[in-house]
Amino acid sequence: MSDFTKALAAASLDLRGVRQTFGATLAVDDVSLTVAPGETVCLLGHSGCGKTTLLRMVAGLERPTAGQVSLDGREVAGPSVFVPPEQRGVGLMFQDYALFPHLTILENVTFGLARLPAAKARAIAEAALARVGLARYAGDYPHMLSGGEQQRVALARALAPQPGILLMDEPFSNLDQRMRERIREETMALLREKGATVLVVTHDPVEAMMIADRIALMRSGRIVQAGAPRDLYERPASLFAARFFCDLNEIAAVARDGRVETPLGVFAAPQGAGDGDCVVGLRPGDLTFVAPGSGVVDGVVESHRFLGDFDLATVVLDGLDNPLKIRTLPGKGPSPGARVGVAVVHSQALVFSAAGH
Ligand code: ATP
Repeated sequence: MSDFTKALAAASLDLRGVRQTFGATLAVDDVSLTVAPGETVCLLGHSGCGKTTLLRMVAGLERPTAGQVSLDGREVAGPSVFVPPEQRGVGLMFQDYALFPHLTILENVTFGLARLPAAKARAIAEAALARVGLARYAGDYPHMLSGGEQQRVALARALAPQPGILLMDEPFSNLDQRMRERIREETMALLREKGATVLVVTHDPVEAMMIADRIALMRSGRIVQAGAPRDLYERPASLFAARFFCDLNEIAAVARDGRVETPLGVFAAPQGAGDGDCVVGLRPGDLTFVAPGSGVVDGVVESHRFLGDFDLATVVLDGLDNPLKIRTLPGKGPSPGARVGVAVVHSQALVFSAAGH
């Protein structure tokens, strides 16, 4: 059995109070996060929120301004410790794959195995290429391969040295939509087979939900919520988190005595928030069309679009300035101009205090 077919000795990752400043820019602000051996955690957030900087500090490509990074209980970055990248046992995979253009595919994969005897390094690299289905391209150069094939070479190269943790920065974003889903599935299947610990950066919430055991949602250098994909989607801790995962209908309202009255009915105020301005968030799939007069409110359909797996209608409701989006089964929604009733799945409403958003 080649070394490549063995499971990895998956490492844990522990970040404590990690901070990074670039001049006046606070790129990462007091981040604490643990990743268990074999776990896949996604760093998710908008452009510029600090995801890549955090990943680079774990890799050893940046030195934290403050805080500690530990891999498998060993401090690799801290006030008086800095272990260089090549001694951390991390595998790296970037958006542009960073393959060496002047090296063959096999030489690219062998590159990280320089400390091994040449014959052994070659055998491992060949096994890694075979595992990602690219053995026949061993003697080719990167430019001769498609984007999807280059991605698989980068994966084989990152995994060949049997890293304790694999760090991936937007690893699927250079692939076209059709290929992305297949390569993403194949990649995650290989990582599960090897029992890898994975920290992966993405700005795409659907991708994060597809691949992560846990998601760490970042905003302005901080982790604002971390948890299982379903927890973040169903129980977002803030309007920011709710908006990130869903194209939310937002209704501005006022909380009084624990109640929030809106043209779409009365909702419970956020716990412990007291009286004041708040926002009621309703997902387009939690609103349904009913006969006029039989829902909580009536309105007129403004537009109706076919989007493949579902249709999306906009409806101007009596008493509300902004139209609401409502999702229906394909071909099932009413036509523009129709007078309709709208019902709400009350239990799914998300109510947030407006303060702090
Ligand atoms: P993206 O998704 O666009 O890659 P990101 O969430 O990965 O964004 P980072 O690349 O980590 O964000 O950047 C966080 C902040 O730090 C940004 O304001 C960025 O301009 C700044 N920054 C990152 N690297 C440097 C650097 N080497 N020098 C100066 N500023 C930097």
